[in-house]
Amino acid sequence: MAKQEALSLWHAVSRDRHPRPALEGVLDVDLAIVGGGFTGLSTALHAAAKGLSVAVLEAEIIAWGATGRNAGFVVPNFAKMDPDAISAHLGPERGERLIEFAAGSADLVFGLIEQHGIACDAEQNGWIQAAHSEAALQKVRSRARQWAERGRPAVTLDRQQTEALTGARFYAGGWMDRSGGVLNPVEFAQGLADAAEKAGARIIEHTRVISIDRSSDGWTLNTPSGSLRAGKVLVATNAYGGALNPTLQRTYFPLKVFQIATAPLPSKTRERLLPGGQGFSDTRRNLITFRFDAQNRLISGGMHVISAGADRRVPQAIRRRLSKRLELRDLPPLDYSWSGIAAVEPDFLPHLIDLGPGLIAARACNGRGIAMTTAMGKVLADWADGTEARDLSLPFAPPAQIPFHGLLRYAPNMLLPWSILRDRLEAA
Ligand SMILES: Cc1cc2nc3c(=O)[nH]c(=O)nc-3n(C[C@H](O)[C@H](O)[C@H](O)COP(=O)(O)OP(=O)(O)OC[C@H]3O[C@@H](n4cnc5c(N)ncnc54)[C@H](O)[C@@H]3O)c2cc1C
Repeated sequence: MAKQEALSLWHAVSRDRHPRPALEGVLDVDLAIVGGGFTGLSTALHAAAKGLSVAVLEAEIIAWGATGRNAGFVVPNFAKMDPDAISAHLGPERGERLIEFAAGSADLVFGLIEQHGIACDAEQNGWIQAAHSEAALQKVRSRARQWAERGRPAVTLDRQQTEALTGARFYAGGWMDRSGGVLNPVEFAQGLADAAEKAGARIIEHTRVISIDRSSDGWTLNTPSGSLRAGKVLVATNAYGGALNPTLQRTYFPLKVFQIATAPLPSKTRERLLPGGQGFSDTRRNLITFRFDAQNRLISGGMHVISAGADRRVPQAIRRRLSKRLELRDLPPLDYSWSGIAAVEPDFLPHLIDLGPGLIAARACNGRGIAMTTAMGKVLADWADGTEARDLSLPFAPPAQIPFHGLLRYAPNMLLPWSILRDRLEAA
């Protein structure tokens, strides 16, 4: 497949997948899952392992959504709130349960990879966050302390350590969670799907759920080629749910994110940058992120302001920014560029959304989806198996619609120039 035709770098370089035919006729299961990304697949695996009958319905192919388009950073913490703030926000009992959930999420990902022998270029070498200003440094030091106090392998980094570990200068310091890392997300998703099938789950591709209707003993999911009857239903469509549930659509901000992968870097340059193979992010609002894939391609990403020609222009702008920040005068051209939609929660926390008796939606994106959605699958399997929602480790509530969503949905992308300005002023 031509490089620019692929859905993402990961879809282009991953091993061939075995085809999974569309639904035909009528099928009865305990748990129906809409969406074949990390959320759906991890839930399918954990629920099937409990002995439930499970079917996943995916409109396209496994990992077609954000799961196959992300950067592959495995990040076991929250995008905005630190543990003490979460404890204050949700109360100590619920707060600490959520913190524990996130804290173990990367270990769960790498544990599943080992347990099921998933070949996905996974490296649990750590996730580094570098501070772009003195104020940000104080914040990340406190962040590292709060996670370390809860038993996590979190360490602070001074300016020299940050430079030595990342090759990036101009950072005041940072911190690292050693349990984080990187992987190839498409191969991880395919490995989850294979493991779920081995445990007895049905994974059905090319089958879009058009409607979900209440029936006397559960729910019926209607598709163009058949229907699925289930006692419980998980809607795991993240930011790709479209018209299936308009209420759900108004509960998050869709954020378009671009990704790039350069041609492989020469080994001399490669050795200077992230020699330990970690994932890197900084503290800017307009984040700088980077990592390498197994072929030494430099991978990065960024947001954009919605405008004509952005799809063509933004990947080159990200490449230029990276080349400047990492002082790479001869950064190779792009091998791949792609984009995806991330679902951003107003409070940046994972959520279980109560859509009716036995009907739930789950989202945990916020740029932390690989670790969080995989871990969420375990919690959702408990729910499918009968655990009361209030006893789960994640916030569970009816859909909270965002006022003026029609207008505000564009805010994360439109406010980018303001974010960039604030980043610059802080770093000055
Ligand atoms: C560009 C980008 C970069 C990111 N980088 C990172 C990162 O480095 N690290 C990280 O942790 N997170 C990252 N994220 C977030 C992460 O990718 C997501 O949180 C995660 O993949 C969400 O998984 P999911 O299963 O909930 O949803 P998705 O993977 O989006 O899956 C939803 C699926 O539902 C299917 N679907 C929708 N409607 C229907 C229907 N009616 N019937 C049947 N199927 C349907 C879609 O086809 C899709 O496959 C990034 C996100 C983006 C967009």
